[in-house]
Amino acid sequence: MPTTATRSHGRTLRFSSGLLGGLVDLGGLVLPVSCPGCGAYDEVVCAQCLVLISGPPWRCEAAAGRLDRMDGRPILPVWTLAPYTGPMRELVVAWKDRGRADVGGRFEAALDRGMRHLVPALLGGTTPDGLLVVPAPSSAAARRRRGDDVGARLARAAARGCSTEGLRAVAASVLVRRGRGRDQVGLGARARSRNLAGHVVVRRHSAAAVRGRTVLLLDDVLTTGATLAACEQALMLAGAVVIGALTIAATPSPGGTAGRVEVGADAV
Ligand SMILES: [Zn+2]
Repeated sequence: MPTTATRSHGRTLRFSSGLLGGLVDLGGLVLPVSCPGCGAYDEVVCAQCLVLISGPPWRCEAAAGRLDRMDGRPILPVWTLAPYTGPMRELVVAWKDRGRADVGGRFEAALDRGMRHLVPALLGGTTPDGLLVVPAPSSAAARRRRGDDVGARLARAAARGCSTEGLRAVAASVLVRRGRGRDQVGLGARARSRNLAGHVVVRRHSAAAVRGRTVLLLDDVLTTGATLAACEQALMLAGAVVIGALTIAATPSPGGTAGRVEVGADAV
């Protein structure tokens, strides 16, 4: 928490971006911050906004039209921590697009906690060698904006929560975007599917590691489901079994948060 003295440093140094950059590198504590969700001063994410991601995950796949499977299997179960609206949307946008990497730590803690609630639902569908938590791969543009490791950090947090509850899990960044797939931001449902179809693949050197494994996908926001569907397809082609996905937030269906189902042992 910044002190009065450090706030005055923040004001004094606001005009020197080079020096500010150095101070941020020294620990990120000397700059005054505000909660992106509501503007509360001196909080990375305030207590009120943290509540939005503090509950157990709930099922949200009913609102994602692109998750329908063509082979008659039931739709992929997707759990999420919050509807992608209001302050929650502001938190995600600040983290993804406005340089607020510090918000990511709060998301990681929430995924760690959330995964603990999911373990009873996942146990029945998991092979004895445990679960691979696989992050959806970022586009090249997103990697340039946020660095390479963002999805991997979220996946590691979820795997930690899972292992804490006795279901062995490891994060595995085995998926990659290939070719001309562009950033999904600003694309509609059909364009997202076209953009991703065939452009998400398992890394060549990871193919043996995923064969026969059970996988939980991890992504930041569920929108149309096109990203998760492409990830599932790539993993299936490599011989893995995707048993579900977890996201930080999900775009509500037009009727609101319809389809919300609490975690239950019959969820997989
Ligand atoms: Zn707030």
